[in-house]
Order: sequence, then structure tokens, then C-alpha cells
Amino acid sequence: MTHRVPLFINGQFVRSTATSTLPVLNPATQEALAELPMSTENEIEQAIAGARQAFASWKEVPVPERARLMMRYQALLKEHHDELAELLATDTGKTFDDAKGDVWRGIEVVEQAVNIPALLMGETVENVAGGIDTYSYMQPLGVCVGITPFNFPAMIPLWMFPLAIACGNTFILKPSEQVPLTPVRLLELLVKAGVPDGVVQLIHGGQAQVERLLKHPDTKAVSFVGSSRVGQSIYKIGTDHMKRVQCMAGAKNHCVIMPDADKEQALGNLVGASVGAAGQRCMAISVAVFVGQSKEWIADLKEQLSGLRPGAWNDPDAAYGPVISQAAKARILDLIEQGKQEATCLLDGSQCEVEGLPEGNWIGPTLFTDVSPEMAIYQQEVFGPVLCCICVDSLEQAIELVNANPYGNGTSIFTRSGGAARKYQHEVQVGQVGINVPIPVPLPFFSFTGWKGSFMGDLHAYGKQAVRFYTDTKTVTARWKYDDDETVSQPNLTIH
Ligand code: NAD
Repeated sequence: MTHRVPLFINGQFVRSTATSTLPVLNPATQEALAELPMSTENEIEQAIAGARQAFASWKEVPVPERARLMMRYQALLKEHHDELAELLATDTGKTFDDAKGDVWRGIEVVEQAVNIPALLMGETVENVAGGIDTYSYMQPLGVCVGITPFNFPAMIPLWMFPLAIACGNTFILKPSEQVPLTPVRLLELLVKAGVPDGVVQLIHGGQAQVERLLKHPDTKAVSFVGSSRVGQSIYKIGTDHMKRVQCMAGAKNHCVIMPDADKEQALGNLVGASVGAAGQRCMAISVAVFVGQSKEWIADLKEQLSGLRPGAWNDPDAAYGPVISQAAKARILDLIEQGKQEATCLLDGSQCEVEGLPEGNWIGPTLFTDVSPEMAIYQQEVFGPVLCCICVDSLEQAIELVNANPYGNGTSIFTRSGGAARKYQHEVQVGQVGINVPIPVPLPFFSFTGWKGSFMGDLHAYGKQAVRFYTDTKTVTARWKYDDDETVSQPNLTIH
């Protein structure tokens, strides 16, 4: 019998009674790794009720104790780093090094959650009026929900539940139906670290299960990471039901290459940032904007990309793995075909095969030039190992192009000019900017600050902004009069 991915409800890994299931497939072989149950209404009710009940006691656990849980969790994640990466590599197809990076970037957020006592400090002003002090606390919200995508099955759940529970909330995770195995292991380790029953729950499913969580009166806040189409729907439904919602969504990230850039550094970084992880990163570079004479480097870029090939997660020569599913492959191949009609295809990975793995979802590095903004290959998020080149005459034109794009997750510029870098950083309407750094993902003491169509909400993922997202601020104004002290005058609190 195929292994059925468990739910985790009230401290127990349980077998779902769902009759509707989806196969979890190894994208390099199509081998069925497990069967994913689409959680029933009753199971979702149980998860919400259990999380609500657990909140009453968990929010009273002293903050340093919650921090200590995170310390133990962080140590366990490090101890099991390679094992988690191997599991993650099997169900995503990522290379082992890439899978280790996925786990590591999540561990860094747990390290941040260890710091929760300092992060939860409120503000205070003494003597706002005679004998009166005002101070604020950050209190947890209640049951929070996380909906996560397929492309980072360790990092993105770890963006969410460690900080949410360290703040004193309880949490229901609904991971991607395509890669549920790593999240189960993440929770097994959390149990080992000593998390109390009901503080984190795990359910599985798709749209119906998510909408039930969004509409339920007992869920208070929703964190989503995934495509813009789904993010917009979740934002609308969630806010209609009076939830606090943050949606980290799709992207189209541009890298500007100035003619004075270090050519070797720029091209080397561009190659890794575009086809690494098969282009399935929300911060992948999918558009290279060559300014002036730097366009002459496109031939060398093609040369470097053509030397790369995908392969199995444990193949040391593989530059990256398969794309996640046959459906994703078909969608990407369709966009490549449209690109061939509209632009110049310098490198076509659509016929890629990997020896010994005929069933894998392989796509070779693909490079287009003469791309312009009205083309489908430019307008849509390809989310595959496909790089589009656009040539412009000036930095001003590059900035205009990037700013006209509806997405605003990340961008980078390669240059030796401080002035050009400063102008780009200042004028570009994108939330995360790299200067001679191809994929500028901020470490977790900052926040992940996508803009425009790449983000819906106002408080971003991880860092101080996430602590504000997962808490409400309570502001107390207090007057204490010392009984024997007749000198304290009555304060005047009239607001003008
Ligand atoms: P997706 O939107 O298809 O799925 C994300 C989650 O939403 C999954 O858990 C899925 O089960 C659920 N879902 C799917 N359809 C739904 C619906 N109609 N209603 C409610 N829930 C639904 O995304 P994906 O393909 O798993 O991930 C890739 C996308 O995620 C890309 O667009 C990528 O750019 C984006 N992404 C963004 C960030 C970021 O921080 N901005 C990070 C990683 C990935």
C-alpha cells in the first residue's frame, strides 16, 4: 500500500480518512513517493478547534521558554540538516547542495525566532503627562494559518511557523500538495524539540481546504507564499473575512548589466541566478537587461549556459534538477514555443533528455534575445530555466523597463560605478535590490520585502515585520499615585 502522508493534529500524526487523494511524485522518475490526502472538513475543524484550545495556554508560556523551544529546534534542524536535504531533494528534484541551502535558509529564520524576547519588546515613554506613563506590549493574535508553495518546502514553512509560535500564536500549516514530505519531517523534529500539543497543526489539500481555513471565524491571520493568481484570490477572500493577510507572490526579476561591469562576475552570477534550481525560485533572474556595449557579452553567456545540464539530485555534475511536474514542464515548453515565434532563441532546452532517467521533467538551459515587453515570454512568470535578454541604450531606459513591469520582487545591477548603482537603487520600484549580488534575498534579521504585484499586504515575511504581523500592539496608559505623595499634580490629558 502506498504511504499516505499523515496529518498532524493535537500532537498526533494521524491517517486522514479522506477518500480524495493526489499522488506525490518524484519529478526525476515519476515514481509515486506517497499519497496525499485532501483533508476532510471534519479534520480541518479538529485542527482549528485544537489550535484554538492550545492558544489559551501557549500564549501564557513565558517568552524565554518559547525561545528555548526554538533553541532546541534549531539544534535539531542542524543535526538533521543532511537528512532533511536528502528528503527534500527526492520530492523536489533539487540538487543536494541546493536542497541543503533550502533547509539552511529556514534554519536561519529559526535562529531569529530564538531572539524573540528582544523582538517582542514594546515601546515606553515615561511621564507623557504628570505622573502618567505610556507603554506598549505585542500580544499574539490566536490561530494563524500558513499556505506554502512547492519550490522551498523547508525554507518557506520555516519563514512562518517558528516566528508565529514564538510570538505566542498557534499555527496551522497547509503545505504544497506537491511536496508534503519535508514539512512532515519538520514537524516531527518540532515535536522532538518539545512543542506542546495543538500549538502547530498540519493539514493537506488544495483550494477547498485553504478556503475553509480562510473563512473560519477562529482563524486570525494568514501567510501565503505562491503564485500571484492564487495570492490575489487568498488576499481577497481572507480580507473579506476580516483576517490579517500577507501574500508573497510571483515575480519577474531583472538583472541590469552595465558596460563597465566585471564581465566574468556578471555572467557567472547571471548563469546561476537564472537556471539554478531549474529557474524555480521567486528571486530567480528571468530577464537580463544589457546596457550599451555589454550586449556583446550575450554570445559568452550562451556559451556558459550551453555547458550546463540538469540531472538527478545526487548527480554531482548536474547543474540543477527537473521542473516540479509534467504539467509545469508542458506549460514552460508552451512558453518556449511562443518565444520562438516572437523572439530569437539562442539556446533551446525544450528537447532535453537525461541518460537513464527518461521520465524526468527535464528542460535544458534556454536563452532568448531580442525580447520585448509585449511578448508572452516576457509578460508571464516562466518559472523554468529560461533567460530572456533585452538590450537598451542607457541606465535610464533600463530603469524605465523594470519600473513598467507589474512585478517587483527582486532585481540586481552589475556595475563598477557607485553613481550608477546609487541611481538604480534609489529609482527602481522593486523591493529587494542587489548591487553586484545576483539574488538579493535578505537574511532573516531583515524582512523579505517584495513590492507591486509580487506582494499583497503591508507587513512582510520574517524579521521584525513578521513579528508585527503575528502580534497586536496593546498600548497602556497608566497613572499610579503614590499615596503619601501630595505633590503629584493631576495630569491634564485633554487631546487638542
Ligand atoms: P501556487 O500558487 O500554485 O500554490 C501555492 C499554495 O496555494 C499551495 O499550497 C497550493 O495548494 C495552494 N493553492 C493552489 N491553488 C489554490 C487556490 N485556488 N486557492 C487556494 N489555495 C490554492 O504556487 P506554486 O506553484 O506552489 O509555487 C510557485 C509560485 O510561488 C511562483 O509564482 C513563485 O514566484 C511563487 N513564490 C513566491 C515567493 C515570494 O516570496 N514572493 C517565494 C516562493 C515562491
